[in-house]
Amino acid sequence: MTQNHEGLGGEGLAHSPEGANTQPGADGVVLASDEWKGNRKQREALRKKFDGRCAYCGCELTDMHCDHLEPIIRVQTDQWGRRLPAAEQRVIRPERNIVANMMPACKACNLHKGGYSLEGWRDIIRRSAEIVRRQTSTFRAGERFGVIIVSGEPVTFYFERLATAPSPPSVGTSLKASEHKDPTT
Ligand SMILES: [Zn+2]
Repeated sequence: MTQNHEGLGGEGLAHSPEGANTQPGADGVVLASDEWKGNRKQREALRKKFDGRCAYCGCELTDMHCDHLEPIIRVQTDQWGRRLPAAEQRVIRPERNIVANMMPACKACNLHKGGYSLEGWRDIIRRSAEIVRRQTSTFRAGERFGVIIVSGEPVTFYFERLATAPSPPSVGTSLKASEHKDPTT
């Protein structure tokens, strides 16, 4: 599988349609209880994982996609690009097709991430300005005239921001205490 993003065709690679062939290969063992089947119960639980928000950009989910955080690769075509019959299609890294590896994602994030690992995708987003700058003179003009300003901010995903966010102060204790603090001490 190539890591060329344009050639990945995100759809069909990282998704897990119901009834997919998820038999573990010799390199991985998947316990039945952990296996991602994409059924209604699992999807409902996945939607709640980040309170109905996309794990990556944090938007509110309408149409939820079920994304493999670390991708599995579905081989659905032969080396000439012809679609294989279902019995000959296979999954590479079936041990990743588990509930713990699933993330609720919006359509845009899921399709753009495609077959990338989390870090591979982060790197593409991190270099997005550089990539578009190379591709279009309009972007370069926009920068020259100050219309486009690249922030250079690090790429932090929503689930990472949640993990590092301080827990909200308990109302009536810590806030009040600082308010009533004697300024002379
Ligand atoms: Zn998203």
